[in-house]
Amino acid sequence: MKMTGKRDNSNIEVIGFESIDSDKFDRQKRIPGWDQSKVLNATVMVIGVGATGNELVKNLALTGIGKIIIIDYDLIEKSNLNRCVLFNMENDIEGKYKVDVVKESIKILNPEVEILAYKDRLNDIDKNLYKKTDIICSCVDNIEARLEANNYAYYYNIPFIDSAIDEHFGSIQSVYSEVRDAPCLQCGISEKDLDLMWKKFSCTGQEINSENGETTRKIATIITTTSIIGGIQSQQVIKFILNLDHFKDYRKWDTQIGEPLIGRQLNYNGLINKFDIIEKSKDPNCWTCSYK
Ligand SMILES: [Zn+2]
Repeated sequence: MKMTGKRDNSNIEVIGFESIDSDKFDRQKRIPGWDQSKVLNATVMVIGVGATGNELVKNLALTGIGKIIIIDYDLIEKSNLNRCVLFNMENDIEGKYKVDVVKESIKILNPEVEILAYKDRLNDIDKNLYKKTDIICSCVDNIEARLEANNYAYYYNIPFIDSAIDEHFGSIQSVYSEVRDAPCLQCGISEKDLDLMWKKFSCTGQEINSENGETTRKIATIITTTSIIGGIQSQQVIKFILNLDHFKDYRKWDTQIGEPLIGRQLNYNGLINKFDIIEKSKDPNCWTCSYK
């Protein structure tokens, strides 16, 4: 296409002309409603730093989140390396703790981010840690950890964002106790789910064949799915960080930043290239959110 005439730049606001290329956060600061100081002062907890957790922590670090708490007791296996952006394939990192390698990689990516790494199962961590975080995210592959994070987040009034992936499919759901009529993750758990609780599950709830409680079926995943879902999960984190003050003051979300997916589940279907959002129902007898 042949361009004719001069471009009219008269309506483009110039923000800090001198910092256009010297401020690493300049381009995101230009987004209406953005407040980098809120991002810098935020603490985000990420439970599970496998494939989706890698994407999430990478995005949070590059956005300039001040502090990230990472929790994962798993060691790195060779089969992790095709979809974990923070696990460098060149280095000899098999058998190392995932949290240690994530911490080292983030030091290179953005040394100004403080990473607190915990090599614990979720139910072994000091519960006071929840109170030190502004947002909680789970990127785990089992229902027990999801529900534990959901319950503590709800109890402490902390926004909680859960992600799940399986093959070409993924989903995101946020929970926030200040939105009183919105369901929590526990609301969507059926009696059947509870009966099967002690068995291992896949991310999207399919039962995994188990022997003595050990997982024998590995979930099929690919980095294209985990990066899409990790990207959306990190965007939900940013929405909460930038918008929470506005919501607390006015009981509505600033439309410049947009409303998080509270009470709704975003589903991604990579097979048919489709996203959809379903409304989730609140269980009036839910032991987590109905008695508060
Ligand atoms: Zn509930």
